[in-house]
Amino acid sequence: NKFVYFFGGNKTEGKNSMKELLGGKGANLAEMANLGIPVPPGFTITTEVCVQYLKDKDYPKGLLEQVDAAIVKLEEVVGKKFGDNENPLLVSVRSGARVSMPGMMDTVLNLGLNDASVLGLAKNTENPRFAYDSYRRFLTMFGDVVLGIEHDKFEHALSEKKHALGVKLDNELGVNALKELVEQFKLIIEHETGKQFPQDARTQLLMSIDAVFQSWNNQRAITYRKLNNIPMEWGTAVNVQSMVYGNMGETSGTGVAFTRDPATGHKRFYGEYLINAQGEDVVAGIRTPRPISTLKEAMPIAFKQLEEIYIKLENHFRDMQDIEFTIEQGTLYMLQTRNGKRTAAAAIKIAADMVAEGLIDKKTAILRIEPNQIDKLLHPMIDPQATLQVVATGLPASPGAAVGKVVFTAEHAEQMAESGAKVILVRTETSPEDIGGMNAAEGILTVRGGMTSHAAVVARGMGKPCVAGCGEISIDIKKGVFSAGSCSIHEGDYISIDGSTGHVIVGKVPLITPEVSGELKTVLKWADEVRTLGVRTNADTPYDASVAREFGAEGIGLCRTEHMFFGEERIPVVREMIMAETEAARRSALVKLLPMQREDFAGIFHAMEGYPVTIRLLDPPLHEFLPNHEEALEKLMELESKDAPESEINKVKKVMERIEFLKEINPMLGFRGCRLGVVYPEIYEMQVQAIIEAACELTKEGMTIVPEIMIPLISHVKELQIVKQQVVKVASAVMADKDVKINYKIGTMIELPRAALTADKIALEADFFSFGTNDLTQTTFGFSRDDAAKFLPAYIEKSILEHDPFAVLDQSGVGELIKIGIDKGRSTKSDLKIGICGEHGGEPSSVIFGHKVGLNYVSCSPFRVPVARMAAAHAAI
Ligand code: ADP
Ligand code: MG
Ligand code: MG
Repeated sequence: NKFVYFFGGNKTEGKNSMKELLGGKGANLAEMANLGIPVPPGFTITTEVCVQYLKDKDYPKGLLEQVDAAIVKLEEVVGKKFGDNENPLLVSVRSGARVSMPGMMDTVLNLGLNDASVLGLAKNTENPRFAYDSYRRFLTMFGDVVLGIEHDKFEHALSEKKHALGVKLDNELGVNALKELVEQFKLIIEHETGKQFPQDARTQLLMSIDAVFQSWNNQRAITYRKLNNIPMEWGTAVNVQSMVYGNMGETSGTGVAFTRDPATGHKRFYGEYLINAQGEDVVAGIRTPRPISTLKEAMPIAFKQLEEIYIKLENHFRDMQDIEFTIEQGTLYMLQTRNGKRTAAAAIKIAADMVAEGLIDKKTAILRIEPNQIDKLLHPMIDPQATLQVVATGLPASPGAAVGKVVFTAEHAEQMAESGAKVILVRTETSPEDIGGMNAAEGILTVRGGMTSHAAVVARGMGKPCVAGCGEISIDIKKGVFSAGSCSIHEGDYISIDGSTGHVIVGKVPLITPEVSGELKTVLKWADEVRTLGVRTNADTPYDASVAREFGAEGIGLCRTEHMFFGEERIPVVREMIMAETEAARRSALVKLLPMQREDFAGIFHAMEGYPVTIRLLDPPLHEFLPNHEEALEKLMELESKDAPESEINKVKKVMERIEFLKEINPMLGFRGCRLGVVYPEIYEMQVQAIIEAACELTKEGMTIVPEIMIPLISHVKELQIVKQQVVKVASAVMADKDVKINYKIGTMIELPRAALTADKIALEADFFSFGTNDLTQTTFGFSRDDAAKFLPAYIEKSILEHDPFAVLDQSGVGELIKIGIDKGRSTKSDLKIGICGEHGGEPSSVIFGHKVGLNYVSCSPFRVPVARMAAAHAAI
């Protein structure tokens, strides 16, 4: 069995397509070597070994022999010897899963150094400072990653040393200081572990390989995988790679770059580097790096080579690349390439541009855009009209604006967010431990670090606004305050950040929704060309309807009429209707509601002209429109204490009686939906009259109106028969009266299991079905949506459910009922139009499911419409 794959020195065994086995990093290192790009040689231990090791707590037989053989090969290629005291071969031990998990897993650099070989390295390179700098770095990383000693312990000693010598930066420390640090670090290791630092190179190597495999199961890696839906069972590969040194002086350096701007997508080489530095210095934000454009003057030859390589890589992978490089005494080496993370805006621009450049086709472009990313683009930015009190400006690290209360720790961010507060996480710099807090925050602000710092990369990935490297502010965590200029901002105070400009603003700023960009329109048009699933919107007002039209909705899938019953002038009339004790009294109240409803429907029809509009007749239990008991009681007491007239007091008493009468133990399963229509037909009659009158009116004006009347909460076909008869009767009367013919339809929601199970019978009475997946989820699970928050988190924690079924459709349970409903429905009416409405209509995996089971359309909130269009396109490709 082959566990180890070599790369570099014309002996490369892997390639790009072997990501599952070699991890992304290993596969791409091999691919770069295959392309003739200078890569320090090394070898990759496969992910299979990791999986087996984590399961058996032991290595597969033959692994160590293969590792030893690979080391020998590496020694031959590089011309140095591992564990040698004269000319030591040093290596890095790097993790690398199938998909990149930036900063999540651990890396050890300069492995192979010890008290003897550091002397050899110093002598050989004639650069003792470099040798001891490498050694102290190795001790830190080995101590932290492999031995589990808090990074801070080393960091603290380093800071003290700098302080004592009056220098600010690591690279200002001289060789003597570094030697002293090396001794101190070894003592820290001995003190913390009770054992001496292992001098033997092979021991160091095996311990590090162990640690990398084990890091697959560290908390932050687990959290990252959960957030990104990466399977726990993949495992990571380990890359052992010969070192190249960016810390050899002024002609050396290290950097990271993107082949296009990862924030905007613009086609320009973009990145940062540090002179005389090693690997992690750039991302960790230890010094503020320089923009890549200045490398052209600093090291023109290396820069030119870098340019050629990045273009070659982009053309080869046909995607924007995120690269790592190191320059050792003027010679360039590539250390990593991968498809770069990007903001939603950049993803769209890059996809559209690459089609125009002929690099990819339209379908590939569509598949490059995560449907959920689009949502982020439609999200808020600061109202340009607003006057802003900008107190500091940092780097615009991840676009979008956020408003929230200041918190200084990730933990606190999570707690506050849990209690419903919106927070901005303000940190000196972030580390992978902060991931949970970053996820909970609206936005992130850091003092240190560049555009490729941890905070920036993670925020862009999450689509959260981030301002990084804002050196103008300083944080005093103990006092719970940060200062910006003359301003002090306390924990809990509101600030706003603008990740597109880098502005930090005091207080809450008004946010607005941005325009849809040209590129977004283009890719959405391509999505429309390939998708077969229709996308409608849920809208209750003409405004929402017109927003949704802008976003490409092809009609309304759900117009909830009850929302029209609220509003100041209406609620008294609605209450009058509910208070009515006789049909006559109810009708006289309904007469007052009629013109209001008609106006509503006319507005919506107008906004959706030419497209179908599905209007659901009244659905919620009537008590929702009455004041609650406490409110009424308060009112009563107030009136009584004021000695108000008897008649007024009686009125309130009546209301309270009615509240008592309408009170239900379980309103979700109570007197609602079509049950209202069965018992009080006059309510639905009024609504149908308003719908058809509005339709007639607009039809007379020359518009094409397509009303679809939808009856909610049907469980038995006879309910539908009865209600339908009333609808037809009223509609016919109105059309005769207005002398207009409206091509209206009558359909039903399928939101109760019984409806799905008897859909063949129900279909005979219905022109269309719409799966109300919110209620269908409630009734299938028997989970009350309003009470599920008490136990659902535990269900997800214990992996009983993977997702909240109210957000992501439960395909195997609720989805099964949907399939049954579709099959049965179409068995008796083959051309039955079927859609879904509810939260799931805009959730990509649910949309894709809808496509597979043969829905005609999904319906979702206006802002999710572009998401659904893209998801539907993904489903069709
Ligand atoms: P991550 O996945 O967190 O980026 P990496 O394994 O890529 O971790 O390594 C961390 C840093 O160390 C990167 O900047 C990388 O370029 C650098 N690095 C890794 N291996 C070597 C090496 N053999 N020589 C020089 N630098 C290296
Ligand atoms: Mg890396
Ligand atoms: Mg419902």
